[in-house]
Formats: sequence, structure tokens, C-alpha cells
Amino acid sequence: MSIQLELPVSAATRRQETVIRDLSDYGKARAPQAGRPRVSDRALRNAAAARLRAAALPGSGERAKLTPEQIVDRRTSLADAQIALCVAHGVALDDIDSFSGYSMSRSAYDAARHSWISLIKFHGFNDDYDQQPLGKALAWWAERRPQYLAGDDWLAAGMTAHREYWEGLGYGCGGPYCELHAESSANK
Ligand SMILES: [Zn+2]
Repeated sequence: MSIQLELPVSAATRRQETVIRDLSDYGKARAPQAGRPRVSDRALRNAAAARLRAAALPGSGERAKLTPEQIVDRRTSLADAQIALCVAHGVALDDIDSFSGYSMSRSAYDAARHSWISLIKFHGFNDDYDQQPLGKALAWWAERRPQYLAGDDWLAAGMTAHREYWEGLGYGCGGPYCELHAESSANK
């Protein structure tokens, strides 16, 4: 039952809507007679981050005590707080995924891409550990922003960066799973 929730979800959601509505005209000049004080970006970010922490899903032991309904409620609260956080960071509403609350902006795409290429550049790519999360990340973007992904191969770009980086150092990365360097590390 949602009544058992620590968070009064409906009230929290209503407050959240107020925040979103207040910020839907964010960036527009506000009429001087508007009586409400303007929420600072920082205050909003802090409030949204506090809500994220409060609604965060507990570990598996605690989670087992929650009903599926409660878990859905928590996820909804998390997404709402995530949306508020995106808004406070200046992400356009059209660029916010309404289910997860995550940013789908071009800069969010570039940041995700960069983090993967950077990981592969330094550590190489492990099919066993990396393939699944990379596949998940790519699927998330393919579903929402296929135009960004078109012709953009993160793995190939990462492996090129990996080869160039370690060539520059003059030795292999030492990763036993690395397709490029496994042989050299085995021959040491
Ligand atoms: Zn390597």
C-alpha cells in the first residue's frame, strides 16, 4: 500500500509539479509584479538532490521488504527529482526523458560518449565486463536520440584512442583481456 511509504508520494509529486511549472518559463524575463521569489538554481539543485537521496532505492535486503507498488512509487519520485535537477541545470524540457528524468541533450550524449571512450582509452575493452553496460548505454540513446548515434561507433573510437595512447607510451596496457595487448603482456 502506498500509505506505508515514508514519502508522501502524491504530496511530493504535487510539490514537484509546482517546481516544474515555476520553471517552465525559466529563462524568460519575469514581470516585475510577479510576487513569488525566484528560486535560485543552487537552491533548486540542492532540493532536487535531497529528494533523490530520500527516494533512492535501498539495497537488495531492504528492497525485498518493499511491495512492487512501493518500488514503482519510489522510482517515480526519483524520476521527478531527476527532472527537477535537469531543469536546475538548464536542460530544455524537450531534452528531458520523462520516464527516467535523465537528460537526452546533445551535451549529455557527448558526456556519455566521452566517458566510455575515455574508459576504453586507458583500460581497453573487456568483452565480459564492458559489453553489457556499453550495449545498454547505446540502446538507451538509440531509442531516444538515434540521430546522435548514426555512424558514431563508441567502441571503435575508444579502441583507436587506446591504441594511440599506449603506442605513445611505448608499451602495452597489460590488460590480459585486451585484444591489442594481451599477446605482448603474455610474452613478458
Ligand atoms: Zn590494451
